[in-house]
Amino acid sequence: MMNSQFPILDRTVNGHRLVYLDNAATSLTPECVVEAIADGYRRYKANVHRGIHTLSQQATGLLEQARSRVASFINAPSADNIVFTRGTTEGINLVASTLSKSWQTGDEVVVTAMEHHSNIVPWQLAGAHLRVIPLNADGTLDLTRADELFNERTRLLAVSHVSNVLGTVNAVADLVALGHRHGVPVLVDGAQAVAHRRVDMTALDCDYYVFSAHKMYGPTGVGVLYGKSERLAAMPPYQGGGEMVDKVSFDVTTYEPAPLRFEAGTPDFIDIIALPAAIDFIEQLGFDRIGAVEQELSTRATEGLLSVEGVRLFGTAPDKDAVLSFLIGDHSSYDIGLLLDRMGIAVRTGHHCAQPLMATLGVTGTVRASFAPYNTLDDVDALIAGVRRVATMLG
Ligand SMILES: *Cc1c(COP(=O)(O)O)cnc(C)c1O
Repeated sequence: MMNSQFPILDRTVNGHRLVYLDNAATSLTPECVVEAIADGYRRYKANVHRGIHTLSQQATGLLEQARSRVASFINAPSADNIVFTRGTTEGINLVASTLSKSWQTGDEVVVTAMEHHSNIVPWQLAGAHLRVIPLNADGTLDLTRADELFNERTRLLAVSHVSNVLGTVNAVADLVALGHRHGVPVLVDGAQAVAHRRVDMTALDCDYYVFSAHKMYGPTGVGVLYGKSERLAAMPPYQGGGEMVDKVSFDVTTYEPAPLRFEAGTPDFIDIIALPAAIDFIEQLGFDRIGAVEQELSTRATEGLLSVEGVRLFGTAPDKDAVLSFLIGDHSSYDIGLLLDRMGIAVRTGHHCAQPLMATLGVTGTVRASFAPYNTLDDVDALIAGVRRVATMLG
């Protein structure tokens, strides 16, 4: 039923039916979203905010509706808490570059050992020294000495909700409480979470939450930064340009309040307008069903992979999403990935933008299979059969 929404799945790759298991890098896009994008270009291609003409007003209305839809999707208090960005990466850079204007040399940010580069490098660029929450052997966070990482120089705690490599689902509410106990704001990288579980800003109480539309069946080029009202109000502008200003002169310029203050220039409004279609898609499916399907696929894939001689699985947390990182013996992830690709199986190889985590695991890369609700048990069986063949070929 669902796969008619994804014509890309009818493609043949290297003579085989496409088995798409790279959902953690980007999800496929359902027809309803493709249609919404096309409809935007066909009917609403008029620049937002600036115009008094009808088309521009309609495009602006749809953009603001999208903002409200995102706010209700993540249970944010108001649409004003929602800043549109280019993606998770830009959201984190926005927070890092604005907050750090009031930081001093030697100030610190606490992160975890499983962070994506986009939750590491922006803090380094902002001049912060990083303190790192280590991992247990199963890929969960080792919080036993986490309190010791905080001191009077700590400015922020930045953590991922779900690891893009290990699949570990972090106890983010506890982490938010940890940061707040030490008097610092908490940023949560939700890139791997929003398409798979209900996230609730009011319940979570984090200060910032970031994610990307393209990993939740939405368009590329759009992301969301949620910020608490008082946090956004206290942040200086990010980029300067149109839309974000109140009055401009050559001597003094004043700025719009959030969220517009952080949205200089013409936004990717056609894609933003299409984002509600992706949210509808998720909600029509329902998180219960999404979770159930993904767990079934993940359990079968885990058992199947472990039945292949030499397979090493990285990340075995009790609370784990359908992201499986593995290697076969000491073979390079690239060799394994290339051979799987010949069989039409798309997996990701390498460091997954998490080189510090690779160092912790003692490898240079892994093969990662990540699942979405349009994947099937046939896909899992194809993966297992493929890995079994690769293991024999590589010996
Ligand atoms: C994909 C990903 C990012 C970066 O997202 P972009 O869409 O590339 O900006 C950051 N963090 C995690 C955990 C991710 O999976």
